[in-house]
Amino acid sequence: MNIILFGPPGAGKGTQAKLLQNEYNIPHLSTGDIFRAAIKNKTPLGVKVKSILDAGELVPDETVVDLVADELSKEKYQDGYILDGFPRTVVQAEAFDAFLEKNNDSLDAFILLSVPEEELIKRILSRGEGRSDDTEEKVKTRLKVYHDETEPVMKHYQKQNKVQKIDGIGSIDEIFERITKQLS
Ligand code: ADP
Repeated sequence: MNIILFGPPGAGKGTQAKLLQNEYNIPHLSTGDIFRAAIKNKTPLGVKVKSILDAGELVPDETVVDLVADELSKEKYQDGYILDGFPRTVVQAEAFDAFLEKNNDSLDAFILLSVPEEELIKRILSRGEGRSDDTEEKVKTRLKVYHDETEPVMKHYQKQNKVQKIDGIGSIDEIFERITKQLS
């Protein structure tokens, strides 16, 4: 099963992706986690993307697409995966569609976690993960980038009739149950 978990920053994608990974026994791929690990380890990729993440902007499409294609070609993803943070632009979505087609594979679900903007800001500023992009100013930039560049990805998958919208307000367990109900 191939799933895209989609939604604005602070919607709870990472939290739900980890629960889904255990439930369905398929790995979770978070591009944000990969970039943060690369920055921490000061790899060439990390050096390249650090200032971009710090600013709350997007890493160039080509970098992200190559990274995800490489990662998804690994053995552990052969029975499916949960994508979190990708695709984040229409260019990335088109590249992902082409990747699936090339591998004779398809997307099973596109789950949109819907959370109002005031709640997102509140959640991010109170989660205290110490992320350099979790300041009020950077969160506003990330939400604007989401609105301008990422939301069109939803329309892209609406055209394919894939989008399943989930109410992202409630307890972690309640939201998890809504998602698994949709998927079954
Ligand atoms: P959030 O959803 O809370 O913004 P993520 O961990 O998904 O957090 O992403 C953190 C940052 O990593 C983004 O602001 C962006 O700079 C970078 N990033 C992650 N995924 C992508 C992507 N698919 N394309 C471009 N940049 C990305």
